[in-house]
Amino acid sequence: MTAIGNGKISELELDHDPVKIICPACQVPIETEVSYKISSRTHMQGFVVLLFAFCCGFCVLPYCLNAFKDAYHKCPKCNALIGCHEGAEL
Ligand SMILES: [Zn+2]
Repeated sequence: MTAIGNGKISELELDHDPVKIICPACQVPIETEVSYKISSRTHMQGFVVLLFAFCCGFCVLPYCLNAFKDAYHKCPKCNALIGCHEGAEL
């Protein structure tokens, strides 16, 4: 479990998966709730990802799409935004 000082968590510690931390807002051990948001970068990469998916099969598509979106980590208890992990760059 990662404890966070000053309510800040470095981007390096966040990924596209939920992480177990102490919420900086309510000080309760939680597993972050991740929501994916499409950034402008995602739109530009969407076409490339689609081509890639056609070549390699559609099973990789859901993973690729989430990987290119920004992942927002929220506390499920108090709904505080804990941090954001930016989508992958091509
Ligand atoms: Zn909280």
